[in-house]
Amino acid sequence: MEATCDKCSRKFEIKMKKRTHGIDITEHYFICPKCKKRYTSYVTDQKVRSLQKEVRILSKELREHAAYSSPATYKEKVDEVDKMHKEIKKAMEKLKADITKPKE
Ligand SMILES: [Zn+2]
Repeated sequence: MEATCDKCSRKFEIKMKKRTHGIDITEHYFICPKCKKRYTSYVTDQKVRSLQKEVRILSKELREHAAYSSPATYKEKVDEVDKMHKEIKKAMEKLKADITKPKE
């Protein structure tokens, strides 16, 4: 995957790196090879990672049970997965904001 740097307009191939903050926060990021600007792609913590795991399990169940679940049960599960996706997104946005905010 290619990216163009906002700062120096250099086009480069993205090489994802990760580093940890504190005990359980993992930041996934890449760096412009020319000006070294850091781009945070996404950030996870223990809570996000366990939610992601739950979503994977639920989604798998959903696919496997789709054929014989009642429409009401199926809809309930779809809603649940959807809710969890939103929760993960919100949690990741908050983590990213916390990590990327300028130090005072
Ligand atoms: Zn750059």
